[in-house]
Amino acid sequence: MNPDLHRTRVRFAPSPTGYLHVGGARTALFSWLFARHTGGDFILRIEDTDFERSSDEMVTGILDGLRWLGIDWDEGPFYQSQRLGLYTQTARKLLESGHAYHCFCTKEELELRRATAAESRAVPRYDGRCRSIPAAEATQRLARGERAAVRFMVPREGVTAFDDAVFGRLEFANAELEDFVLLRSDGIPTYHLSVVADDLDMRMTHILRGADHISNTPKQILQYQALGASLPVFAHVPLILGPDKTRLSKRHGATSVLAYKDMGIVPEAFRNFLAVLGWSPGEAARQPDGRDRELFSTEELIEMFSLNGIAHSNAVFNNDKLAWYNTEYIRAYDPARLLPLIEEEWRHAQYQPTRSREEILAAIPLLQQRARSLKDFASTFLAYFGDEFAMDPAAVEKFLGDAAVRSLLTELGQRYATLEPFTEASTEQTLREFAAEKGVKAGALINGARVALTGQGVAPSLFTVMLCLGRERVVQRLQAAKQIA
Ligand code: GLU
Repeated sequence: MNPDLHRTRVRFAPSPTGYLHVGGARTALFSWLFARHTGGDFILRIEDTDFERSSDEMVTGILDGLRWLGIDWDEGPFYQSQRLGLYTQTARKLLESGHAYHCFCTKEELELRRATAAESRAVPRYDGRCRSIPAAEATQRLARGERAAVRFMVPREGVTAFDDAVFGRLEFANAELEDFVLLRSDGIPTYHLSVVADDLDMRMTHILRGADHISNTPKQILQYQALGASLPVFAHVPLILGPDKTRLSKRHGATSVLAYKDMGIVPEAFRNFLAVLGWSPGEAARQPDGRDRELFSTEELIEMFSLNGIAHSNAVFNNDKLAWYNTEYIRAYDPARLLPLIEEEWRHAQYQPTRSREEILAAIPLLQQRARSLKDFASTFLAYFGDEFAMDPAAVEKFLGDAAVRSLLTELGQRYATLEPFTEASTEQTLREFAAEKGVKAGALINGARVALTGQGVAPSLFTVMLCLGRERVVQRLQAAKQIA
């Protein structure tokens, strides 16, 4: 037996008429997880037959978004614009077997009829008038140069049904479907034709896509049947809603995946967040305390993924949850793996650290615990990476507003200049003794020093920070405290 007969093949088929949005990315992720879980193939196909609205720039954006999420593909990207011959050929097969016909109605005629239907509140559906044109007559008219579209001849009776892997049995009355266009009069296929021709040609076994495509599925199934092909498994994934329970859109904030990258979200966090947006591993994730686990490595996601876990109801995009995932993942990163992501932020901010790689790698663990996003590493954390950093004006006012504190810090800096050895314990002892000697609270000096050293009112333990910055920087920054106005 041919083992390939049982190999699953799934695809992601974006139209490059927009960027990779959250819903598309989730469909891609589910498809990819399913392919990887089943040891099958994941195919990338760019559905770019809408020549006016598709662009290379969007394709690049989609590929970049997938790569950022760590989604790789085994075949493709295939471009539908380069496969037009297959669609014409498929349309011809359907014509020859009597499942399709040429339609000579012009755009103007169709528009007029649609408007009339709208007036009488009828469903604007193609009335099938060109069905009755005998094939020989159609051939003659085409030979005379008349232009025609190719329409699928939908049976007037009966139902088209399928078992959706998520929604169960779905049935559609054929009478409700119109004779839809397969090939436009300019020879360009519609989505309905190209998707079926390609899914067959590429031997797809499973089709995962957004639930907004459910109503398209009977039109595709009718073509499978007309072509004598067996059906793939369809799994429609419920929609993603905004917090107000309407379909996720720009009104709710960013919908482009790469916009989240630009916001300083780490890819693993976004992937984990997306994976559980409308999918759950069920019992497998139940912890002894009864709560569900939420953090899953990619390997675990692959291991646990199944179509059964896809939710039947719409998912709600929760920004706080995403922020939580982001902090959890940033915290868990190995500093050496986090550094390239931080460096990308620096490039964006046109910032160049002046400290060595070793020093930077030593500083990262102190900051990971406090980071809300990668952005922090290119803003509030800059004091750890070089000598150019901004002071938070509110922190300066609160902790360095007192000129006496500022000059005490300068003096403390001088003591540190000769302190031997320069350790966490010795720096702390020196500060406390100095405070006692001057009759001030150690806390006032600690708070002031924190701002002078890091520019921020909150930071990791001050003496750890001192060690991380090194004696020279500590002395220099404390001595400069006097000049802070
Ligand atoms: N190009 C379609 C879309 O982006 C693909 C739908 C499908 O997966 O069949 O919505």
